[in-house]
Amino acid sequence: MSKRIGIMGGTFDPIHFGHLVTAEAAWQQFELDQVVFVPSGNPPHKVSRVISSAEHRLTMTLMATVSNPHFSVSRVEIDRSGFSYAYDTVCAFAELYGADAELFFITGADALLEIANWVKAEQLIEKCRFIGATRPGWDIGDFAKMPQRFRERAVLMQVPALAISSSDIRARVKNGQTIRYLLPETVEKYIEKQGLYL
Ligand code: ATP
Ligand code: MG
Repeated sequence: MSKRIGIMGGTFDPIHFGHLVTAEAAWQQFELDQVVFVPSGNPPHKVSRVISSAEHRLTMTLMATVSNPHFSVSRVEIDRSGFSYAYDTVCAFAELYGADAELFFITGADALLEIANWVKAEQLIEKCRFIGATRPGWDIGDFAKMPQRFRERAVLMQVPALAISSSDIRARVKNGQTIRYLLPETVEKYIEKQGLYL
């Protein structure tokens, strides 16, 4: 039987329960075999701020996902030089899993509403389908306004609403506010130990 693979792309600076809940919901609702988390190498849309090193983001992603047998982590974007484009990542996965694998790119509502602006968007939607999760603060209903060729390649998914973002977590650390219960405890301790986001 052909494999159904979820690709959960993100900066994961840091990874938090919003990402994990979304990936788990996609795994169950779409009967995926695996969800692969892909920390971005050099995200084109995040040039305006300093992001943590790829090794820190990869380590935190590994720590957060290791206990889940159907989650894994890929270094494909981290090991690639230049900007990270979803299209290149999806091509790498198509090669890895073979032509008959079904690839699903998992995003939150904010990212889903942007996909038409991604590099090689037209080729990208030929190669994979999209699973767009609800996310507090974004109206996933706006997806209805996107061109039909995008709409027919995406499915919307309800996930338990978690108003958690990495930006908010970073701001909290900087301001000395607690981040407990927003992300796995191991990741919280790693941030503390490494002095991230201060
Ligand atoms: P930042 O605030 O730095 O942008 P983020 O919390 O948005 O961080 P990203 O790494 O940018 O995290 O997101 C990766 C993917 O996870 C995106 O598709 C995003 O929409 C989705 N996502 C992030 N947080 C949530 C959440 N709380 N609920 C649903 N989806 C989420
Ligand atoms: Mg984001």
